[in-house]
Amino acid sequence: MSKKFKRVLVANRGEIAIRVIRACKELGIRTVAIYSEEDRTALFRTKADEAYQIGNNKGPIEAYLAIDEIIDLAIKKDVDAIHPGYGFLSENPEFVRQCEAAGIKFIGPDAEVMEKLGDKIKSKILAQKFGVPTIPGLEKPIKKEEEIKQFAEKHGYPLILKAAAGGGGRGMRIVRSDDELIAQFRDAKEEARKAFGVDDIFVERYLENPKHIEVQILGDEHGNLVHLFERDCSIQRRHQKLVEFTPAVALSDEKRQAILKDALKLCEGAGYKNAGTVEFLVDKYDNHYFIEVNPRIQVEHTVSEMVTGIDIVQSQVLVAEGYRLDSEEINIPNQESIKVNGYSIQCRVTTEDPANNFIPDTGRLDHYRTGSGYGIRLDGGNGYTGAIINPYYDSLLVKTISWSRTFPDAIRKAMRSVEEMKVRGVKTNASFLINVLNHKEFQKGTCDTGFISNNPELLD
Ligand code: ADP
Repeated sequence: MSKKFKRVLVANRGEIAIRVIRACKELGIRTVAIYSEEDRTALFRTKADEAYQIGNNKGPIEAYLAIDEIIDLAIKKDVDAIHPGYGFLSENPEFVRQCEAAGIKFIGPDAEVMEKLGDKIKSKILAQKFGVPTIPGLEKPIKKEEEIKQFAEKHGYPLILKAAAGGGGRGMRIVRSDDELIAQFRDAKEEARKAFGVDDIFVERYLENPKHIEVQILGDEHGNLVHLFERDCSIQRRHQKLVEFTPAVALSDEKRQAILKDALKLCEGAGYKNAGTVEFLVDKYDNHYFIEVNPRIQVEHTVSEMVTGIDIVQSQVLVAEGYRLDSEEINIPNQESIKVNGYSIQCRVTTEDPANNFIPDTGRLDHYRTGSGYGIRLDGGNGYTGAIINPYYDSLLVKTISWSRTFPDAIRKAMRSVEEMKVRGVKTNASFLINVLNHKEFQKGTCDTGFISNNPELLD
């Protein structure tokens, strides 16, 4: 029943495009890259077997969102499947439908599941249906300002306004008093409309400094579903992840098992296929709450690969080809066969200036040298001496992923690697990452999402 792909189109750019191209090559599949005019000199396009410029005159972001053009190209180039990476079209059910209509396999969950789980309100309602705990809130888009006023009266402050279609921390506002409620609501709505084209906003209680724990899920198209354990992504700046690791060393085994079980319960209930992530917050009383599902590969999937030995991106492709998890190709006979070995930490090196409020820096990389060596994996996108860092896309330069048998040594390796990096011409956040890795609380593994804002000395 499995159909081997001959050609896969990668509808993305940067490091994740390279990650997917590599996985396809390892599986003997030809790769087709697309790139915008602004990405003419980008490294990722040279890694694919073929690369085509798209989106002329559309704009740097819009080029990667040009559904019709991408599908036309895929048909013309006789592509069997499209991998969407993360961001851009990766969570767009309409794109999935159009791929299907064109006879092209979308490497990810099907449109219906994506629709149910990709929306923060719908997935919350579904979680409740399956008995998975959620944060108290109004599980419907706020139509009248009166509704949030009533919610605030009943539950008090702080509360958080969130965009149903949200991602990357956008469309999110924390409100601490009546005075700011309505203005913040209007702001969130406006930001959501601009970023996602949909301005549905909902409200829930804001937990003070929880931990962010998420579960990697992998399902085949025959009803088999496993988890690849958890990741701790609590090190965040403005709700955006910066450093991620696994296992979540501060979790008790009992809590870990409860979270893993809930993640599976939700995905099994929803009939999830392919790779996905179920995100939870854990408050200071050790209660866990589901917050959202990301129905796609995530930036931090790497650390789960390092400790389980499972190539998640290859598995995505194989599952989409129709292979069962217990097939020889994927080789996951059952949940019990997945073991965690050691510790892994991912640091996101970005072209942002920590001394200047993390404003993205741009220009020519006059010098680019990374620190590899034993225990280090580097997943890069744009970095080479002479590369131009443009202002149009996210500022991720390279992911430094360390692995070791112990957490302290995984930290030491990460630190050594980031210290060894030499980047000139464009500023990076390397010194900030070193400060995080050096911090006692980080080394205990107990940081919560308030860690960066509560420790301003990390900026020194
Ligand atoms: P996005 O999809 O934009 O990344 P998420 O819903 O995944 O948004 O939330 C991102 C981060 O925002 C979380 O990891 C957490 O730090 C914070 N957050 C979200 N909801 C809450 C909440 N109810 N209470 C406290 N923090 C929250």
